[in-house]
Amino acid sequence: MRIGEIHLFQYELPVTNGPYRIASGEVWSLTTTLVKLVAEDGTAGWGETCPVGPTYAEAHARGALAALTEMAPGLIGCEALPLPRPRRMDALLCGHNYAKAAVDIAAHDLWGRQLGVSVSDLLGGALTDRVASYCSIGVAAPDEAARIAAEKAREGYPRLQVKLGGRDVALDIEALRKVWQAIRDTGMTLAADGNRGWTTRDALRISRDCADIPMVLEQPCDTLEDLQKIRSLCHHPIYLDETATSLNTAITAAGTGLADGFGMKITRIGGLHPMRAFRDLCAARNLPHTCDDSWGGDIIAAACVHMAATVAPQRMEGAWLAAPYIDGHYDAENGISIRDGHIARPLGPGLGVSPDESLFGAALLSA
Ligand SMILES: [Mg+2]
Repeated sequence: MRIGEIHLFQYELPVTNGPYRIASGEVWSLTTTLVKLVAEDGTAGWGETCPVGPTYAEAHARGALAALTEMAPGLIGCEALPLPRPRRMDALLCGHNYAKAAVDIAAHDLWGRQLGVSVSDLLGGALTDRVASYCSIGVAAPDEAARIAAEKAREGYPRLQVKLGGRDVALDIEALRKVWQAIRDTGMTLAADGNRGWTTRDALRISRDCADIPMVLEQPCDTLEDLQKIRSLCHHPIYLDETATSLNTAITAAGTGLADGFGMKITRIGGLHPMRAFRDLCAARNLPHTCDDSWGGDIIAAACVHMAATVAPQRMEGAWLAAPYIDGHYDAENGISIRDGHIARPLGPGLGVSPDESLFGAALLSA
């Protein structure tokens, strides 16, 4: 079965009650890019990629569209089953994992629909139909962060991530202390996410001054070299997020003991195919990780939930979704939502989500 058509769309996702604030800046609205693959028999599959603006990572919405436009003609006529392997896309374009991920996700959706099975079945089988999520508090004043933390604990989230950095480190420490005070008796686990925003000096000070707080330091500094410098001096486990840009860096980080776990995003690593390898690598080294993405609507959310459902619960750090910041769904009936801090795995074939295509307007490219 060959790929007969590819259609590319972009769609604006305004941030509800924005902005969303992280160390690298704030965002009010995100442009998401959607891929529709149509097989020769008419079966369609959807993929999505949505960078958080142009400064969070080496990814941006116009780059996604340009990369997909470059690859689309070369994917027409290629076998949809088995999936267009990364090397097929690599033969058309170097790099741009975040754009290739949208094709990879669409191919999984298409494959699942062809076979009448869910994407989690294709990924090895779901271990749960109720996936743990976690909530993320954007960089906020300490009292405000503590107020939101208590609210999220009451909502049933098992894990809390606090965004820090981009300001006086003393404020970050005050925020962590107040947040921990608010959740310490709730059973919620805590991650302090610097989003690359701290110097090694600041990261060490936070770890020293908050040595009594059981938390994970997520991507405290910008480079692997900085992380190597602080690794043996920190009181806390260190997770990699933004610097784990590929399977290769993940292998190095896991193999050298640089990381105790990962915040991993499906589009950053290139899609579900490499994410599956990453999941198995983490299983071999018993390293916990998240299964999520930086932003996006129901398509990305469904991909994250299917992947997360296949991870052993003891290593599953949760699937963060942008859904609480987005009004409405692509699929009014089967859209992905968080309830009581958890997400129901979609049970239909493929991703289990059927977007209302009319929302996206005319295709920006059809091949
Ligand atoms: Mg992170």
